[in-house]
Amino acid sequence: SVRVRFAPSPTGPLHIGGVRTALYNYLFAKKMGGKMLLRIEDTDQTRYVAGAEDYIREALDWVGIKIDEGVLEGGPFAPYKQSERKEIYKKYAQQLIDSGKAYYAFDTAEELDLLRKTLEEAKVDNISYNAVTRMQMKNSLTLSEEEVAQKLASGEPHVIRLKVPLKEEIRFKDLVRDWVAVHASTIDDKVLMKSDGMPTYHLANIVDDHLMEITHVIRGEEWLPSAPLHILLYRAFGWEAPQFAHLPLLLKPEGNGKLSKRDGLLGDFPVFPLEWKDPATAEISRGFREDGYFPEAVLNFLALLGWNPGTEQEIMSIDELSAAFSLESIHKAGARFDVNKAKWFNQSYLRAKNDETLAALIADKLPTGFDGVKVAKLMKERVTFVSELVSEVPYLFEEPSVYDEEVATKKWDDLAKKAMPLVADALGKMSSADFESAAIHDAIFAALEAAEIKPGKVMQALRLAVTGDGKGPDLMLVMEILGQASTIKRINQALE
Ligand code: GLU
Repeated sequence: SVRVRFAPSPTGPLHIGGVRTALYNYLFAKKMGGKMLLRIEDTDQTRYVAGAEDYIREALDWVGIKIDEGVLEGGPFAPYKQSERKEIYKKYAQQLIDSGKAYYAFDTAEELDLLRKTLEEAKVDNISYNAVTRMQMKNSLTLSEEEVAQKLASGEPHVIRLKVPLKEEIRFKDLVRDWVAVHASTIDDKVLMKSDGMPTYHLANIVDDHLMEITHVIRGEEWLPSAPLHILLYRAFGWEAPQFAHLPLLLKPEGNGKLSKRDGLLGDFPVFPLEWKDPATAEISRGFREDGYFPEAVLNFLALLGWNPGTEQEIMSIDELSAAFSLESIHKAGARFDVNKAKWFNQSYLRAKNDETLAALIADKLPTGFDGVKVAKLMKERVTFVSELVSEVPYLFEEPSVYDEEVATKKWDDLAKKAMPLVADALGKMSSADFESAAIHDAIFAALEAAEIKPGKVMQALRLAVTGDGKGPDLMLVMEILGQASTIKRINQALE
């Protein structure tokens, strides 16, 4: 059965592209009735960033990606954190040494530098430690068995390198990119074990994917160049490789290049799921969560960034997404990150919520006793974010102190000044129990029509008196929310 993994390195906050990778894994697992693993790839201790692992967890939780096996969940292949699996990698590196597929290399940094310089001067375009150059270097393929044994025994620093064959074609069918063919001569003898005894990403990743019985490796396109090496590693171990699906890049909104973490710091839109404060620089990067996005909206938006169900439908629940999902229908071309689209999704999810739900979300922003349900009803079709339900209508909570000048010049004319006292008077005559929008409308219109004033001619003036603004949401409902006394008081104040 299907087993997929999301395997982030805790080197910083999870970029929104990383969340999409996790999401595609999750959608696929869910569709296939498979399992989703979260493996923490923390073998590069120099790049470890405190807080990053918790951040990754919180981000996945927030968007609603559920993990079946992982550091917190446990599982049959625990531990799921690579720094706790060092002995395992040692054992498998040794296995490759024993079978002649890998070798020890004792070259110092200076010797490696010299190799690089010599190759550069000879204008060799493929500069690497490989089947040709390894013969001039200090490794277990060139040194005698005794020398090697002696060096190992004396603890001389060394690495373990993969013995990449010189003549071999590596072909594999990527589920997104289709056939990929690379010649082994373009791949160098990659280090598998570093001199500090830690595995490199390549070794740890392959060993774990094999041991954890991963069937599909779904990851970002930046890993495509590593895939041929990974295939070689599977061959070296004599293991069957999983299937690969490399996801298209996320591009900047303008389409000019890859969306990067920097875009989150500089741009005026978030590229991280959650806000992140860099522990080293204290710089803050904006997060979708703190910007007020619903997690379902972000999930929906991300799912369609590089894939679509082949129908016109865009608003989809997680169940609908996973039911429609397939790796084969992922796009090859990069997906342009479009924050306006993200906003559109958020707006759609906001409108789909009922007024009571929205009222609960703004309850803490309203003065006590304020009717949030009415505020939600008034504003839900006009905003993108929950906070705007309140922030866009400050005049609900405070009398206007300034009046829009342009509108005042145009609309606060003699007719308006004649009409406003009539309106105030009509509102005053209503019974306070009936003070709701339809009745308010009828009372105002009846009074104006009786005085032969076309209501349309003075409505903007009325809005100006009540809110200070020239435009806004349903004025009758605004007055209902303000209540009889406050509405009348505002009209009279405007007349002063
Ligand atoms: N640790 C790698 C990363 O940070 C995982 C790449 C992969 O999925 O193989 O993206």
